[in-house]
Amino acid sequence: MLDKREFYINGAWVAPQAGTDCDVIDPSTEEACAVISLGGQADTDAAVTAARAALNGFMYSDPAERLALVKRILEVYNTRAQDMAKAISMEMGAPIDMSLSSQVSAGSWHIEGFIRDFDKIEFIAPLGDHAPEDRIIKEAVGVCALITPWNWPMNQVTLKVIPALLAGCTMVLKPSEIAPLSSIVWAEILHEAGVPKGVFNMVNGDGPGVGSQLSAHPDIDMISFTGSSRAGILISKNAADTLKKVHLELGGKGANVIFADADEKAVVRGARHCFNNSGQSCNAPTRMLVERSIYDKAIEIAAETANKTRVASAHDSGNHIGPVVSAAQFDKIQNLIQTGIDEGARLVAGGLGRPEGLNRGYYVRPTVFADVNNQMTIAREEIFGPVLSIIPFDGEEEALAIANDTPYGLTNYVQSQDGAKRNRLARRLRSGMVEMNGKSRGRGAPFGGMKASGIGREGGVWGIEDFLEVKAVSGWSNDHA
Ligand code: NAD
Repeated sequence: MLDKREFYINGAWVAPQAGTDCDVIDPSTEEACAVISLGGQADTDAAVTAARAALNGFMYSDPAERLALVKRILEVYNTRAQDMAKAISMEMGAPIDMSLSSQVSAGSWHIEGFIRDFDKIEFIAPLGDHAPEDRIIKEAVGVCALITPWNWPMNQVTLKVIPALLAGCTMVLKPSEIAPLSSIVWAEILHEAGVPKGVFNMVNGDGPGVGSQLSAHPDIDMISFTGSSRAGILISKNAADTLKKVHLELGGKGANVIFADADEKAVVRGARHCFNNSGQSCNAPTRMLVERSIYDKAIEIAAETANKTRVASAHDSGNHIGPVVSAAQFDKIQNLIQTGIDEGARLVAGGLGRPEGLNRGYYVRPTVFADVNNQMTIAREEIFGPVLSIIPFDGEEEALAIANDTPYGLTNYVQSQDGAKRNRLARRLRSGMVEMNGKSRGRGAPFGGMKASGIGREGGVWGIEDFLEVKAVSGWSNDHA
């Protein structure tokens, strides 16, 4: 079993001061694969102190130097891709091929996007011709706490750490205690790339411990959090006493509106997207809304897609899906499948229990419910498992009403050959993102949600600006730069 108890503080790996041991469980086997330490207040304080001490030097550094640093991080990240993929597969169960091709590459994709967009940030800009002595200065928010979940570990870590570095912030990362191994590799990468000591720190811990200590800490200026709405609310309350800036990426319950004139692959594509990463994506299209004239056919295709989706160990190569992350998630998903049955939804594929032949590991059967109505629990709650709910609709207005009738507002999807109809829906869907006809967002597009899905945007220019304060200066002299 790997011993990964140390934290990365002030440029060095250090033993915990107030830690308690916590096993990391491989969800493919249910065996402990590593031990980490859950830090305590003394560890949190040490990391925050290091970040605070490094702030002055880093926030006034030349932006070109920070860009060069991020380019070095990308180089080292690419050389460590195999180690990173193995760590992610082991800690959270993404199958090894998918781990490399999607999980790890999501990180490099974001880093490349930030590098490309960095020169769009104007750190000092004139206000306008009407005010020649005014300047708008953008400067680092300060010391940031970055709290990340387990489902897309490097996607979320890179979406926070890289823009924070580019903005000139210093930081403490607290990855998920369920999937901490990839962030340990990440800290090694940053060390090798030469991030100045104290700029990036990493402490492992759980929500009630290091998570709460960070969100209440008087020396933290901003929290950037991705995870459940439950934790997002607790963090916001905890951060309120010290008036921190709080950025939240929370859950989703995306609608995938499939009109009768959709392309023939729309249903297969939607079902596969729902099952991808074993359903553990906040932007998963988990409510498939289907126009009544193609409803029966869509159910048939979705059920067939579920039945053809292979489930196996994360350590096997192939294009199957892996287990879900933990016993708690497995139990939650089983309970929600039972609730779907109890509330009268029609089970057309999958269901309770593990897939045939798998007796150990948190494996869930790809599941499809038909005849779901939007008030059922499975249509309202984020399941975070490979469970698709199909809901019929008649006409554009009803589709919109059902899609928008949710506490969440992260990503919605539209499938239709009618461009004008697609555009009408894109404008009226209440979500931070709308993806249509299977076209995913381009590099540098902002990621984030409305309503219970969060506050703020990550990625591209928006992601960097989130870590910047805006300062208005008048009486600026042109005598010196
Ligand atoms: P979680 O929100 O409890 O944990 C995410 C991160 O927040 C972890 O690092 C955790 O230690 C930390 N955390 C938890 N409570 C905290 C607190 N009070 N203060 C500070 N930090 C805290 O998520 P989870 O338990 O891992 O998963 C539960 C549910 O959250 C899932 O079923 C899913 O619905 C949702 N989720 C959403 C996303 C997303 O990307 N939107 C990601 C993961 C989980």
